[in-house]
Amino acid sequence: SNSSNSSNVDVLIVGAGPAGLFLATQLSKLKISTRIIDKMAHPVLRGHADGLQCRTGEVFEAMGVQYRFDLESHECAEVIIWEHDDKVGGIREASRVVDTLPGLSRIRHVNLGQDRVEGIFIDAMKENNGLEVDRLLEPTSLVVDEKNLGNPDAFPVTVTLKRLPAPKELANGDVQSGMYRSNLFTDESQTKGNDVEGDHSGEEVVHCKYLVGCDGARSWVRKTLGYRLEGDSNNVYWGAFDAVIDSDLPTGRMKHMAHSKDDGTVLMVPREDSMIRIYTQMGTLADGERVDREAVTLEKLCAKTQAVLKPYKIEFPYVDWYTCYEIGQRVCDTFTAYDDHVFIAGDACHTHSPKAGQGMNVSMMDTFNLGWKIASVLRGQSKPDILHTYQLERQYTAKELIDFDYKWSRLFTGQIKPGKDADEGEMRAAWEQSIKFTSGTGVVYAPDGLLVLDQPNASKLAKNITVGGHFENHQVVGAFNAHSIKLQAELKADGRWRVLIFPGDVRESDALDALTNLGNQLQTIVQKYNSKDADLDEVIQVLTVFKTAHREIQYLAQSLPEVLIPRRKPYNIRAFDTLYCDEPSHHDGDGKAYAGYGIDPSFGCVVVCRPDQHVSGVFGMSQGKDIAAFFDRFMVQQ
Ligand code: FAD
Repeated sequence: SNSSNSSNVDVLIVGAGPAGLFLATQLSKLKISTRIIDKMAHPVLRGHADGLQCRTGEVFEAMGVQYRFDLESHECAEVIIWEHDDKVGGIREASRVVDTLPGLSRIRHVNLGQDRVEGIFIDAMKENNGLEVDRLLEPTSLVVDEKNLGNPDAFPVTVTLKRLPAPKELANGDVQSGMYRSNLFTDESQTKGNDVEGDHSGEEVVHCKYLVGCDGARSWVRKTLGYRLEGDSNNVYWGAFDAVIDSDLPTGRMKHMAHSKDDGTVLMVPREDSMIRIYTQMGTLADGERVDREAVTLEKLCAKTQAVLKPYKIEFPYVDWYTCYEIGQRVCDTFTAYDDHVFIAGDACHTHSPKAGQGMNVSMMDTFNLGWKIASVLRGQSKPDILHTYQLERQYTAKELIDFDYKWSRLFTGQIKPGKDADEGEMRAAWEQSIKFTSGTGVVYAPDGLLVLDQPNASKLAKNITVGGHFENHQVVGAFNAHSIKLQAELKADGRWRVLIFPGDVRESDALDALTNLGNQLQTIVQKYNSKDADLDEVIQVLTVFKTAHREIQYLAQSLPEVLIPRRKPYNIRAFDTLYCDEPSHHDGDGKAYAGYGIDPSFGCVVVCRPDQHVSGVFGMSQGKDIAAFFDRFMVQQ
């Protein structure tokens, strides 16, 4: 219909938490027509999730926002584990581990409150193309025109939205009003809806091509699809609060995990603004019993923390936020509906215990996986089939994490005890293993015959590259500016595919011939999917990493096939910024990239990376035809 309260948009996102805001930021960067709504008058103001994993930071960098997190976040370098000791009548330091396992990623695990994480994305999407969260709106009905699901020009998904009255006062969220800080109006002013006075209730109808439910653990979209979160809680409930502490604990601003004899466990995580996030185990529940949230007061959380930390003293001169929750690990069987026109992401389809700091990270990584796929189908670059890989890849990852989370929570809550069920070495090994796992760098997507190839022999070409895993970083030198460059960070989240060629040392004529042949084949492949008059690297960008010094490459590059150094608008010049060298840099040492990736320069290889940096496949230098066949499966010829 064309009535004034009805509109069309390509993607409608319900829910502006981390998952929804991350998706909106990605889509606004890719200039996709997008609307994002939220029923709340304002974003999270304090508290909630606060851990940002290594892989999340790498993705933020690809999105161009990591520098903002560098400025604001807080890093924990070490974790101290405290155990009960009768001799001191309380806890004593038992061991220490490094928080981010060295070598895991160049970006370390940090903490920053969900309010600031959301704030950064609210700013970023506005800068990208003016997109803002449309607040005080909630969906009331979902109708899908199933006959038109296959029609790319149709808007088959219809959602009715109800505008909610603006609250007279700000909702307290999970905080007592006495604990508010006065600066909360800064974020507030960045969102629409709140400045509307008076009665603006009413309904509107939105027709969209894709609907994404990022509406949290009680997701309306999930319930409307008839889907359920399955799984169990492990019957332990927790309190969490953010406070400034006054304590004689000698270990300062370190991350602490303290297991007491009779009072349970406390986890303390230092964060920005001199604050500490404190998690305390409050109690256990019988099967089917529910937490009485009203009975959990701030005083109880503080008293519990004091009891666990004996013989040390701790006071809380300022408390910013507190909450209470039950640890639950649940996952939905299906993340998609209506032939991949309706999706759910984030807490809407899986929940985790916050101990491993997963919730916010996994939620954003869901929509990172989905965003570029939707964009490339909407742009007519990919067949809609690729959308189904979202379900395959993210549901599997969520399940894997939940299995892990279940085990880890039991270790953390003392249900598995050191000395009895596990020795200290085992605890330590489990901790280290968990750090690796929860950093997000361990996510590997299984072969699906479409976006990730089944290549058992790939390791022969690149020993340290995992097909399905993300492309890791090694330092190289820019062939035309001699800068030291982080190769992974060149794989920006701009919706483009990357073909990375490692031709070896092209001073050898065989290597140069192989590169030239491959280049000519790639030229055809790349042009096939490009729109008319576009730059050659519009859809697929070819990057070349030589095992030859940049001085040599500068003289040789002019004669390379154009696809390796494409001309770009508006001046139609070759920038040469697609060529790199594996050699020592002037200021940052030798990146040894070939060795790092496990590539033998005398054979070389080609790595195909998706727009989300995951490796689709590794090919030999003479496998141009196989690369063509790979793209042919899901890309649309223009
Ligand atoms: P959410 O962040 O839940 O965002 C959902 C958004 O959708 C919200 O803005 C909501 O207003 C909106 N919405 C919901 N329903 C509708 C509707 N019908 N219409 C319109 N909009 C709707 N994780 C940790 O790691 N550590 C913690 O300490 C921690 N504490 C938490 C405390 C609380 C009280 C909560 C609720 C969560 C906590 N989490 C914590 C979990 C973490 O916040 C989530 O995993 C993460 O926010 C998930 O992101 P999301 O975008 O999927 O969902």
